[in-house]
Amino acid sequence: MRRFRNAKIIATLGPASSSEELIESLFCAGADVFRLNFSHGSHDDHRARLETIRGLAKRLKRPIGILADLQGPKLRIGTFAGGKVTLSAGQTFRLDLLDTPGGPERVHLPHPEIFAALVPGTDLLLDDGKIRLSVTEVSPEYAETEVVTGGTLSDRKGVNVPGVALNISPLTKKDRADLAFALDLGVDWVALSFVQRPEDVSEIRKLVDGAAGIVAKLEKPAALEHLDAIVELTDAVMVARGDLGVEIPPERVPIAQKRIVAACRAAGKPVIVATQMLESMITAPAPTRAEASDVATAIYDGADAVMLSAETAAGAYPVHAVEMMDRIISSVEADPLHTGLMEASNRPPEATSADAISAAARQVAHTLKAQAIATFTFSGSTTLRAARERPDVPILCLTPNVQVARRMTLAWGVHSVIDAGITSFTEAVQRASHVAIRDGFAHPGERLVVTAGVPFGRPGTTNSLRIAFVEDV
Ligand code: PGA
Ligand code: MN
Repeated sequence: MRRFRNAKIIATLGPASSSEELIESLFCAGADVFRLNFSHGSHDDHRARLETIRGLAKRLKRPIGILADLQGPKLRIGTFAGGKVTLSAGQTFRLDLLDTPGGPERVHLPHPEIFAALVPGTDLLLDDGKIRLSVTEVSPEYAETEVVTGGTLSDRKGVNVPGVALNISPLTKKDRADLAFALDLGVDWVALSFVQRPEDVSEIRKLVDGAAGIVAKLEKPAALEHLDAIVELTDAVMVARGDLGVEIPPERVPIAQKRIVAACRAAGKPVIVATQMLESMITAPAPTRAEASDVATAIYDGADAVMLSAETAAGAYPVHAVEMMDRIISSVEADPLHTGLMEASNRPPEATSADAISAAARQVAHTLKAQAIATFTFSGSTTLRAARERPDVPILCLTPNVQVARRMTLAWGVHSVIDAGITSFTEAVQRASHVAIRDGFAHPGERLVVTAGVPFGRPGTTNSLRIAFVEDV
């Protein structure tokens, strides 16, 4: 089984998509990676979904990626005596540390670190930015505010403090417990929410200790100030437009998105564009034209993956949403403008043998109209360098490491395969030929470009390129 597109699809699992049948339908429709969202659901829910995916992968003999998304320090208000209140513009409203049900005049905000960072004039956004409060007076225990934009406010809604770097760890107690659980399950990627500083990535890297790839979710303006340093330290990035679009004005989101995608492509780190991509498909079988265009933009920019959230987790048309994304990606990638844009936006190779070989592989594959570039890798790094080149042929990732094979399902243009290690170039050509024929990439007599490290069996040595005819093996 192979895909006929380069950019990948991530589907979030939830109540609407937990049965074995539905998860299989989502995979067959095009989902390459499944996201377990630890903001919702119990550990038992996530374990059951993971086991279903692993069972499916075994049955279909295809690696499937699993991303555990940690909630992070999502700030929330407490509860109201009546479940909700209505706030009107101009009234005063107090946030405080009193752990008692709130009312029309006040509510509990159990985060002293917010009060420490506020000054009069700071704006607080509640419920995804629907309600805006302006701080008039602060103390360590409370903040008095004036309501700028009113509306209904209900229990436990989220709070954003745009533009203020809060002195909080990116990992709450819940995140640490969820992370230990996810690593124990053996997920392939772990996503860290509300990254603010490069050190936040270092902190989670120590805990993960190589057991999974790390995705830094960029959804705070502070993170954009340290973009290059964060990209350097992380394994992958998510443009988390839901919270980002609350923290910065909507008109800044497209610019931030393009900047983040470009930084990740320059560094060769997989980048995911996420949130509200086909939002209206939560309740409708077809997207708006604007949504189709939004997915297309991410593909024209060269993002590695696009993500579905509530569309697949809680929507009425989860399989339709994946099918629609698959069609939009395929249609954009067939546009000659897309091919031209990939080439024009490519950054020069870095001065390493892996990059020199990858750039040459793209060029050779293009000139000879080869069917694929086959990369032999232990860590996946050679495959990612090949993907960074955005070649106009598929990239085969052949690795003996099952975790690397699964992790690479996120990367642009990569078809990953678990395959025994090789000991010679003859063997490399045979293995690549076998996989290319079996998985529908090439016929005997067609050409492949094969990259590998000589001497064989030593990680991190990609230094050789061979043009090979596909052998009938
Ligand atoms: P979330 O992250 O769905 O976990 O909030 C994505 C986003 O904020 O866009
Ligand atoms: Mn978020």
